[in-house]
Amino acid sequence: MNDCLFCKIVAKEIPCNEVLENDDFLAFRDIDPQAPVHVLVIPKKHFEDITELTQGDSSLTSGFMEFVSQTAKLEKLDKGFRIVLNTGPDGGQSVQHVHAHVLGGRGLTWPPG
Ligand code: 5GP
Ligand code: ZN
Repeated sequence: MNDCLFCKIVAKEIPCNEVLENDDFLAFRDIDPQAPVHVLVIPKKHFEDITELTQGDSSLTSGFMEFVSQTAKLEKLDKGFRIVLNTGPDGGQSVQHVHAHVLGGRGLTWPPG
């Protein structure tokens, strides 16, 4: 995807504050953090959203959740955290490359807005 912001981050054309990386996934700090810890986790391969990812490769889908958990552990979110997957216009998705928000480091309120 030529015009995808997160593909450009994967390609290192745009810098990011990296947290964790392996062959398939990248975790980096959100540019506009909504909590003391706010990390975005993405597959390096482009999928538009979680529905496209889950229709693709099931091992990549489970690897994604594993990588999210590893990220939370690395960030020492032992008191808990929230995983958010904004999807589509009603879900408030603004970047069309699937990403999990990992939020923590404070008590999070519920319900979200
Ligand atoms: P969405 O609204 O699609 O769920 O989340 C997109 C997230 O990407 C937002 O939280 C936004 O702050 C973050 N973001 C947008 N542009 C950049 C960028 O260039 N670098 C980083 N690290 N985060 C970004
Ligand atoms: Zn992309």
